[in-house]
Amino acid sequence: MFTIELNQRQEKILQIVKNNGPITGEKIAERLNLTRATLRPDLAILTMAGYLDARPRVGYFYTGKSSTQLLSASIRKFQVKDFQSIPSVINEDVSAYDAICAMFLEDVGTLFVINKKNQLVGVCSRKDLLRASMGGQDIHAVPVHVIMSRMPNLSVVTPDDLLVYAANLLIEKQIDSLPVVKKKGSSYEVTGRITKTTITRAFVALIEDE
Ligand code: ADP
Repeated sequence: MFTIELNQRQEKILQIVKNNGPITGEKIAERLNLTRATLRPDLAILTMAGYLDARPRVGYFYTGKSSTQLLSASIRKFQVKDFQSIPSVINEDVSAYDAICAMFLEDVGTLFVINKKNQLVGVCSRKDLLRASMGGQDIHAVPVHVIMSRMPNLSVVTPDDLLVYAANLLIEKQIDSLPVVKKKGSSYEVTGRITKTTITRAFVALIEDE
């Protein structure tokens, strides 16, 4: 649980614990002229969000963590596997025209290209297809493997990578998506994808406390 905005009473509790901690729930309630029961949800929120620490028989401590520190701690818990979506893949031998059709049908901006052995061999984006069309190539004849970005120059992530690592790669490499891969010997099998939309979804999840 992560609350970004604390209500007035929670702010007051935080202040009391900051100045007087360790302090018991009862003592905090006394200072606020409230019952312990009224305070319980607030104390639970402050503890779960990491602002306060509770020790049995001692009371509440202020953890000293700023909301920015708590926010970055929450973001660091996000892993690729928690947010990845289903990848759209095509075979390397299909035509650029078929790749365009696949993009429309599957409503994606990037296709991951595999060979007959199911190994990741390339990435084909909208720009790759536009470039092929502009160059006057016959898009019905030219196979995707001719126009795609290929191994070993692909940026990939694994399910256990942090989502911030993936976000950084998207920015650094100026790309829209990343294949999530499982290593199989010296090659990769595609198991998912991370896109700019994934990162937007994670951003919203932070606020919606998912
Ligand atoms: P768009 O073509 O819609 O702008 P991108 O910005 O993702 O999409 O693609 C820009 C270029 O980067 C394309 O040539 C594409 O093949 C390449 N590219 C896309 N994703 C990757 C990736 N994960 N690894 C390496 N190259 C990529």
